[in-house]
Amino acid sequence: MADIINLLSDAVANQIAAGEVIQRPASVVKELLENAVDAGASDIQLIVKDAGRTLIQVVDNGKGMSFKDARLCFERHATSKLKTADDLFRLSTKGFRGEALASIAAIAHVELRTKMAEDTTGTLVLIEGSEIKEHSLTATPDGTSIAVKNLFFNVPARRNFLKSDSVEFSNIEEEFNRVVLSHPDLAFSLYHNGKLVIQLQPTNLKKRIVNVFGTHFQDKLYPVEQSTDFINISGFIAKPENAKKKKSEQYMFVNHRYVRHPLLNYAVETAYSELIPDGYKPAYFIYLEVDPATIDINISPTKVDVKLQDERLVFGFLNSTVKKSLGQMSLTPRLDFDYEPGMDVSNVPDNLTLKQPVVTHNPDFNPFNVSSSGTRSSSVKPTMPRNAAFDTSGWSDFLASMKTETVDAAPSENLSLDLEVLHSETEEETPLADVKCLMVQQQYIVTDMSGTLYVIHIANARERILYEKFLSAIQNQPIAVQQSLFPETIELTPAKAEVLKDLKPELQKLGYELESIDATHFAVNGTPNAEDGEDVQTVIDNFLDAYKANVLNHRYEKEQNLALSMARQKCTAYKAMSEECEIIDFLKQLFDCQVNQVSPSGRKIIRQIGLAELASWFEK
Ligand code: ADP
Ligand code: MG
Repeated sequence: MADIINLLSDAVANQIAAGEVIQRPASVVKELLENAVDAGASDIQLIVKDAGRTLIQVVDNGKGMSFKDARLCFERHATSKLKTADDLFRLSTKGFRGEALASIAAIAHVELRTKMAEDTTGTLVLIEGSEIKEHSLTATPDGTSIAVKNLFFNVPARRNFLKSDSVEFSNIEEEFNRVVLSHPDLAFSLYHNGKLVIQLQPTNLKKRIVNVFGTHFQDKLYPVEQSTDFINISGFIAKPENAKKKKSEQYMFVNHRYVRHPLLNYAVETAYSELIPDGYKPAYFIYLEVDPATIDINISPTKVDVKLQDERLVFGFLNSTVKKSLGQMSLTPRLDFDYEPGMDVSNVPDNLTLKQPVVTHNPDFNPFNVSSSGTRSSSVKPTMPRNAAFDTSGWSDFLASMKTETVDAAPSENLSLDLEVLHSETEEETPLADVKCLMVQQQYIVTDMSGTLYVIHIANARERILYEKFLSAIQNQPIAVQQSLFPETIELTPAKAEVLKDLKPELQKLGYELESIDATHFAVNGTPNAEDGEDVQTVIDNFLDAYKANVLNHRYEKEQNLALSMARQKCTAYKAMSEECEIIDFLKQLFDCQVNQVSPSGRKIIRQIGLAELASWFEK
């Protein structure tokens, strides 16, 4: 029988390999910029035409290449960055696979001009679809210029799959951003269709971020910083009130390489989980530095996916570092916690201060010390962030349907205290008689302060108040148990009974004294509120359902889970507020909370409308 196996020619092999590395113009940009950085350049220009379809050129002032290397660099597996397989485990460069230039040359027209400082002349190489067209000496400045023209000229399928110029160019900008954010100490510029898009001088990281994303970022960033023998974490995170509903700027770098790592992203996002509504995303720019021997970058051809040796430790450490930073941040939850564009916030003074929230964290936490109990989240899995259960609609509707169960606020000691914190003005300027609270259907409290209308979602606020109360009960201020004279008995499924047995000490702190009778029955020896006839069977049953579900989702740490599961049970069964002093007391409790803008389940508590917004409702 005839032999049928052929060896593919290099050109074909390169074209196939190119499919993995070069998917779109932005992939070329990434490879060329990384090569320029690896070449030690201090000034790098990116010149693009037609979103990279016609031209992508990178000009650097790096070390350049010799006459021979200028030709060799287009061979597959041609790299100066790796000699032995062992080198793979101590990489400090961006490249190492030696296939980017070979791939690019297989699917485009490439013009390389390069010169090393010590050489008197430079080199020109022209290559088209892997075919060398010219290799000659030429006059050119020190450094390297690679121009990639007519990308995918010989791969029509790829060319046809390219998106619109605006999409492809924004992909290019994204790759550019990833590189410029990894190297704030280098100068970069980007030109598109002959126009300068951005020019970046060497600077520090914070200024680089602001230069790239705009001056409005200036006040939104808060530093993160933590180091151990194993890992250094540095960078900036956005303040919770700057979280965005849409895609946010989220950048994670490991050893100065932009990486995509769902688990690390989750470690950051969960640190915010109590501080921002569901579905909102915090911006962050986080730089991890680890021993190169402990990461594997070689798991995807584009090298954006990495594997870390001990992901759980890194997860725990990153999570606690971000939490710590959030805790230190002067969050000053402000009533202008403004997520919706168009809301008028001009009436809220900037120096308005409420109680500074303290995010629970353990400053001594060291994930590398196994005996440290801390917040090590070893059981946390990368379940994806919670759904956007947060309803922003229906504003005008509910105001329209407002019933006027007006409660006229009379002067009150408590409220005056609160007004002091709500307003930065002096007491005289905010006479208490100005404060009107309006209760809408037992669901909302509407109040007007300094011309801004605040609407408070009662159930969400109550969940927050109870959550903080229960958390502090578990942590340090147990709720008193009121002994029952005639203990009732509750019955649970065997599975729930098992869970309950484990939680008995914590439930005691929440005011429930339960005693096992047998595998499924418990005597209720005491409750937090003996006289109000609560149905303990239902409360405990539902509490255990919620608790177990959260355990399955790995969503909260144990104490948070306990407090939240109990708060959810209790916030529904509450008697109506009718007296004005009850409402005021309720608001006082809310503003005493460490966080008062968002419920622990991530729902918004307070919304506001300024005068301008109100006026705009009635414009023609
Ligand atoms: P890798 O970066 O993985 O080594 P590339 O195909 O991207 O593979 O580049 C091949 C080689 O060409 C590099 O190892 C380097 O020696 C050389 N090279 C590429 N770009 C430049 C540049 N801008 N300046 C100097 N040398 C370069
Ligand atoms: Mg490279």
